[in-house]
Amino acid sequence: MPDKNKNAAIAAAAVLLSYSMLPTAAVRVNNYITNKIPAVKKSAGRKTICLSFDDGPDSRYTPELLDLLKENDISASFFAVAESAEKNPELIQRMKDEGHLVGLHSLNHRCPLFMGMRDTREEFMRAVDIMHQLDTDVIYFRPPWGTINLQLAGMMHKYGMKMVLWSVMAEDWRGDITAEEIARRLRRRVHSGSVICLHDGRGENAAPARTIQALRKVIPVWKSAGYEFVKADEVYGK
Ligand SMILES: [Zn+2]
Repeated sequence: MPDKNKNAAIAAAAVLLSYSMLPTAAVRVNNYITNKIPAVKKSAGRKTICLSFDDGPDSRYTPELLDLLKENDISASFFAVAESAEKNPELIQRMKDEGHLVGLHSLNHRCPLFMGMRDTREEFMRAVDIMHQLDTDVIYFRPPWGTINLQLAGMMHKYGMKMVLWSVMAEDWRGDITAEEIARRLRRRVHSGSVICLHDGRGENAAPARTIQALRKVIPVWKSAGYEFVKADEVYGK
């Protein structure tokens, strides 16, 4: 590689590292450490779990999921993709009517690691604007893939939003995972204080349908174990 190109490549890598990769690593480390401090502390001996759903709303899956949560009297947290929310305003309304928390999960699920400052700012503002048009004041933000950049961190701060990551995933978005396997992972990985990240939209090969099937199996197990279902505001502060 000629020296000029090599220097340009090094400079680009340094920018990427300081703009998005290191901030993302810092956020992940912080999340890991926070999750090691049992949320039990905050909930004074209660056994709590926080169920959260990303990537929706989706008219094919979200209504069935909302039915299931209602049948079980469970409040959850939904991190909506704003463009999907715009297409399904009745589902956002239903979430709120049924006592769920509605947070934001970006405008259209682009990865912040590789988004420039201007796009990051404009997409963030557009997403918040869509949610406001849906009468939804979003306070909690979950960045796509748990990745951020400095501009995104600045926007969250400017809008007074709290970032919510997770402590448990079950890889439920995968096209090749069965509902039984998702349920098995959830039973094994979840404990008191867990913030569980599942998906009611996107995913491969109709993945959210298997997420719902898995929840049908595992919710009764959690309930009989005495778990209480809390929303993100209870875990991350109001
Ligand atoms: Zn997502």
